[in-house]
Amino acid sequence: MREKSNNLFQSAVKSIPGGVDSPVRAFKSVGLTPIFIEKALDQFIYDVDGNKYLDFVLTWGPAILGHSNREVIEEIKKVAENGISFGMPSPLEVSLAEKVKRMLPFVDKVRFVNSGTEATMTAIRLARGYTKRDKVLKFNGCYHGHHDALLVQAGSGVATFGIPSTPGIPQDTVKTTLTCEYNDIDCVRKLLSNNDVACVIVEPVAGNMGVVKPEKGFLEGLREICSQTGTLLIFDEVMTGFRIHSQGAYGLFGITPDLATFGKVIGGGMPVGAVGGKKDIMDYLAPEGPVYQAGTLSGNPVAMACGLKTLEIYERDNVFNSIMEKAERFYSNLTELCENTEDISFNYAGTMFTLFFRDKAPKNLIEVNECDFDRFSRFFKFMLDNGVLLPPSQYEANFLSLKHMEEDLNRYIELLKEFLKIEGM
Ligand SMILES: *Cc1c(COP(=O)(O)O)cnc(C)c1O
Repeated sequence: MREKSNNLFQSAVKSIPGGVDSPVRAFKSVGLTPIFIEKALDQFIYDVDGNKYLDFVLTWGPAILGHSNREVIEEIKKVAENGISFGMPSPLEVSLAEKVKRMLPFVDKVRFVNSGTEATMTAIRLARGYTKRDKVLKFNGCYHGHHDALLVQAGSGVATFGIPSTPGIPQDTVKTTLTCEYNDIDCVRKLLSNNDVACVIVEPVAGNMGVVKPEKGFLEGLREICSQTGTLLIFDEVMTGFRIHSQGAYGLFGITPDLATFGKVIGGGMPVGAVGGKKDIMDYLAPEGPVYQAGTLSGNPVAMACGLKTLEIYERDNVFNSIMEKAERFYSNLTELCENTEDISFNYAGTMFTLFFRDKAPKNLIEVNECDFDRFSRFFKFMLDNGVLLPPSQYEANFLSLKHMEEDLNRYIELLKEFLKIEGM
């Protein structure tokens, strides 16, 4: 029964384009209409019809402690009592900046913004200002937010100048955006060979075409070629930050980017993004340097408090390792199931994973596009009807939280087995 959700959606479409404030929420790609949420607690989310779902979306990553952590909520209340926005510096942003620096040794300085999109937009401008070059290189299937320069795709696997992914982006804007397939280091070498590219931006583990892992040598290659050609390497860790390792890609792969962008977990569910990196580059930002960037609500005290408390608990309670202890068993069960079943495969990194309806785990967008999307839609619906909320697209990562228990993870496996049986797989 999703009657109230359906009624709300009927109203919503009359006042909000498509009825939602972010497209993937519309459930369009799985041929359904959205559920409207009343509340979320721990590993569960509850819709307005009173249905309870085991949640693998986790507000698209931020809720790494599980939903509505009591300590975080209490801290938010306490801080809000003193005012919800000042438009002036407050102690909380200094504390969060120091915390981020302690957790991530390659970050000398950090600037807080309001979303992941703002973070990558700022990082790109900063890279262009610092290197005095215009071109940027991104990878097909990597998502870096919805601003013009990075909302670009390329023709079928051929490195090419960007084609905008959406109407509304001038061809001129994307003329300076170059693209390669993920894991194609030869393409990168070729496109950087003229020493005229400002930066390479990459999800160190891709999460926005489903979880796709860097092959051995890919990130190392990027670091080497960028250093040789005076190109800045930007790790977009809006999704992977605190999720693939407690120190993100730096911790997992031992590779140091020039700049990194953060979002999602860093705000613990509040609108926070951040750009961090080496001092001499970061100091190019205004008012220290010439590259302009600003935000009325940036460093908002309530948002900072939420991020700070979330990261404090994350460290204090060894949250990453606790999740991984439970995840390991789950991942090995899932791996075994995939090995014994044709046409499904599976990728994971830390606390994120994607099940692909494709024989072998994909290594770039071309291969992700070979998945059986109809089957994915049926799987999504089957899980939803059985009280499990998955991200409503094959192109998304699933997330685990501290509150996901072994029985929850076993439930995913059991339901998947049942689904495979129904599908005759
Ligand atoms: C979610 C995401 C963004 C955009 O963040 P928003 O807060 O939605 O603007 C950017 N980069 C990556 C890797 C993301 O996963």
